[in-house]
Amino acid sequence: METELVRMDREQADPQALERAGRIIRSGGLVVFPTETVYGLGGDALNPDSSRKIYAAKGRPSDNPLIVHIADMGDLPRIVKRIPQEAYLLAKRYWPGPLTMIFEKADSVPPQTTGGLDTVAVRMPSDPIARALIAASGGYIAAPSANRSGRPSPTLARYVVEDMDGRVDMIIDAGQALIGLESTIVDLTEGKPVILRPGYITEEMLREVLGSVEVDGAVNGADSSQPPRAPGMKYRHYAPKGRLFIVEGQADRAVPYINDYLARERAEGKKTGVIATDETAGRYRAGSIKSVGRRSDPEQIAREIFRILREFDDEGTEVICAEGFGESGLGAAIMNRLLRAAGHQVIRLS
Ligand code: AMP
Ligand code: MG
Repeated sequence: METELVRMDREQADPQALERAGRIIRSGGLVVFPTETVYGLGGDALNPDSSRKIYAAKGRPSDNPLIVHIADMGDLPRIVKRIPQEAYLLAKRYWPGPLTMIFEKADSVPPQTTGGLDTVAVRMPSDPIARALIAASGGYIAAPSANRSGRPSPTLARYVVEDMDGRVDMIIDAGQALIGLESTIVDLTEGKPVILRPGYITEEMLREVLGSVEVDGAVNGADSSQPPRAPGMKYRHYAPKGRLFIVEGQADRAVPYINDYLARERAEGKKTGVIATDETAGRYRAGSIKSVGRRSDPEQIAREIFRILREFDDEGTEVICAEGFGESGLGAAIMNRLLRAAGHQVIRLS
């Protein structure tokens, strides 16, 4: 299939191209579009064929449900059975924005969209292009991240093109995604709200609205006895092609450890890399050294982490060490993605 590539300015969307994109989705086609989190691979959420096409384009297991994107609170009742009080409170504070809520699904949502579950994940993005496209598409876009399954989520259109050219009808390029990590997912179907995936909306931010919130036990466990409640969390994800592991500990110990380890790998002819920070980047000796930004600026780290994982692939880096990023606030979401990219390989220096 021929993929049309459209460049669009976030501040000045192109109504004609959006109208065309909306028609593609309404007639069962696929459009990749920018959101504030990462690029999304969109199809009509209420059309089972569209969802099937999304799974095929991504190469994603079809038991891994899709998030339904809406642009208007008034469109929510058609796709969910019940809107709990917590949902109104969260929507008031964080919608539109990088928060996904799980509801009991209405019959209008086909099982192909929800991976056979009787619940549905819903988000209202804030990106103006995403919102205009949802409106032009009939109100309901099912959209996972626009990467091939298992690869890092795309924060730039050039990575979308790499993964999706020839597999979708249109790609809308609006530059770099501003947040860079996928949405926080909160399950509201079990009485007590539970975080299934950490994201830009942190546990603390949810607690401000909800009073209390739990974190699903499977979120950061390497292997847990109970399956994760977000089916996608069980898959290896974001993985670079090289071997990645995380070294946690004070810089004074972590930097020499990483230097020594990678020197041995280079001696065996391996191409090595480091995911460093501005504070430490100058202290690594050789190989491909990439800073994700200042440690004091987790928003920048969130924005850069997936891009950097992809750059190591482009360079053919074979062994990559990453520094750890703590677990508080946005750090929890960054570490969650990094741990999964590393297949939970962590070295903790005391
Ligand atoms: P992505 O679209 O790539 O950001 O992935 C969507 C994530 O949302 C996956 O981890 C899914 O497992 C999760 N998800 C979607 N729908 C549901 C649902 N009904 N219940 C639990 N998790 C869900
Ligand atoms: Mg994804």
